[in-house]
Amino acid sequence: MRKKIAILGSTGSIGISTLKVVRKLKPPFQVTGLTAYRNAKELARQIRIFRPRVAAIMDWKFFPQLKALTRGMPTRILAGEEGVMAVAAESGADLVLTAIVGAAGLKPTLSAIQKGKDIALANKETMVMAGEVVTREAQKSGSRILPVDSEHCAVFQCLAGAPPLSEVYKVLLTASGGPFRNLHRKHFHKITLKQALNHPTWRMGPKITIDSATLMNKGLEVIEAHFLFHMPFDKIDIVIHPESIVHSMVEFIDGSVLAQMGTTDMQIPIQYALTYPARARTPVERLDLTEISELHFEKPDRRKFPCVDLAYEAGKRGGTYPSVLNAANEVAVGRFLNREITFTQIPEMIEKTLARYRPLTNGTLDGILMADLWARKEASKIS
Ligand code: NDP
Repeated sequence: MRKKIAILGSTGSIGISTLKVVRKLKPPFQVTGLTAYRNAKELARQIRIFRPRVAAIMDWKFFPQLKALTRGMPTRILAGEEGVMAVAAESGADLVLTAIVGAAGLKPTLSAIQKGKDIALANKETMVMAGEVVTREAQKSGSRILPVDSEHCAVFQCLAGAPPLSEVYKVLLTASGGPFRNLHRKHFHKITLKQALNHPTWRMGPKITIDSATLMNKGLEVIEAHFLFHMPFDKIDIVIHPESIVHSMVEFIDGSVLAQMGTTDMQIPIQYALTYPARARTPVERLDLTEISELHFEKPDRRKFPCVDLAYEAGKRGGTYPSVLNAANEVAVGRFLNREITFTQIPEMIEKTLARYRPLTNGTLDGILMADLWARKEASKIS
């Protein structure tokens, strides 16, 4: 069956990989909507190839450029938040892949859910900030949330057959450990941006690459897993696995452990979210365990990587705390990418912001957005 897909954040690492997958699928998906933030050139290139019904650029400044680059094309060109929301909800897609980075993905993802679209969710920040709201709205509209994150895709596959939660002993999220797994803590203050951007196993956008270096990515994934699989935090563990071959595991009460494995190529989990519950061939490199021969597993060093405990704590507190954690992290990572703060200041800024937070708002969408705004202002002030 030919499916219709809209891709939010189509010019990023996940967006581009998704378009690669779409081109190779037989029969192919029809791309009905695409969005970008500022990269008008790449978006125009994609529009020329995929001819979506509608496309939007978030930053109005780039609207004239996109219009000029797509003159004569049948695609309706929109801009701003409303434009992105329109692509999410009204492009005629039955599946929306959300690959916008950060909190900016929340509102468009929610509007697609409210329209009953299935979601292929890469934008983990949406789930971290507003897991309860997202889950509730999805239940109301009948929208299915299919994880794209390789770890959650792995857990999703290990839980196939929907065993009762009481039979699950633990969810074990694997993490490569990032580029500083073997670096002694005493050298952390000297970490440069270039070193932090050099992920050992995955090629990704800059924000998630820094999150992987601080292990905040795994912290965010713990919260994402909590909401996606209705799993209490004490049943979610992190296991460092430098080869990134086992993408995650589920341990059952009888002692059985199921693991999902594969090469480190996001095209595999992206494609599974697109074709679920069917599987299709991919041209990616096949896994040969005899070539790899050794796989390693270890516990995370929580002193070296304080972001892990910060995320668990915010997740357990619940309400608007995860939103504050996420916003403070986005600001801190942004400042690190701009070379305004050091690597070790990232967790410090997040910790200070969380410590100053007094929740005045509840976990409604408005409350979550207010908490997000408050945390951004607060984290920007910290020097
Ligand atoms: P990238 O930075 O490569 O791409 C981000 C995309 O979002 C781009 O299309 C960008 O447009 C767009 N965008 C950025 N800011 C805004 C904004 N304020 N409003 C609207 N659109 C915006 O990120 P990734 O592809 O690496 O990651 C995307 C999401 O997927 C993240 O949530 C990440 O955690 C998650 N993820 C990524 C993985 C990966 O392998 N990369 C793996 C698992 C999850 P433009 O190009 O114009 O800037």
